[in-house]
Amino acid sequence: MSWSTKNPADKNPDRFWSKVDIGKANECWEWTASKSNKGYGKLWWGPKLEGAHRIAYMLEHDVDQLPKQINGSRTEVMHSCDNPGCVNARHLSLGSAALNQRDKVNKGRHHFHVRKTCSRGHAWTKENTGWIRGHKSKVDGTPWKVRYCRACHSARMKKAYPKEQKIRKTREYKDKKNARRRELYAQRHPNAKLRGPMPRKKDK
Ligand SMILES: [Zn+2]
Ligand SMILES: [Zn+2]
Repeated sequence: MSWSTKNPADKNPDRFWSKVDIGKANECWEWTASKSNKGYGKLWWGPKLEGAHRIAYMLEHDVDQLPKQINGSRTEVMHSCDNPGCVNARHLSLGSAALNQRDKVNKGRHHFHVRKTCSRGHAWTKENTGWIRGHKSKVDGTPWKVRYCRACHSARMKKAYPKEQKIRKTREYKDKKNARRRELYAQRHPNAKLRGPMPRKKDK
């Protein structure tokens, strides 16, 4: 018996669909045959081992191949349902590797986001997670979101500016800062009525 990829497996839609658990129109259709370790269905399709979701997309759109690149970045078939084993064409769209990566980061699905703690062991709770806007995506201009650990950030600031940290907590410093802010605001908005300093809670 010879086993060779030179004998391409049939590109037979019936063979493909026989391995799918077809559900209702809007449900996920689960791939029942072999899967990659990331959960994507795999099938010999012509001369290569192809992703089942990619085959589903090609069958749906009646094309033999997907474009190699989109906007200079590798073409990928993306899941709107975030279920890698799904081959329902309604949940699939064509994107690029760059776009897919940004999608993962902004939806909190990137493998970084799977971690429970930061590298110094602070838990990634909602309170402890800060988000800043990163650079804009080259693909479609949407900004990336970058998360940071608030505990690490404040520890870093305390270490870098130990004196400033103490000074900034004093009433004197805060009053001075707020007075300066009010002054600048009054300059920019000469007609605004200013209320003066906010009433302060008396110390117990
Ligand atoms: Zn799905
Ligand atoms: Zn941390």
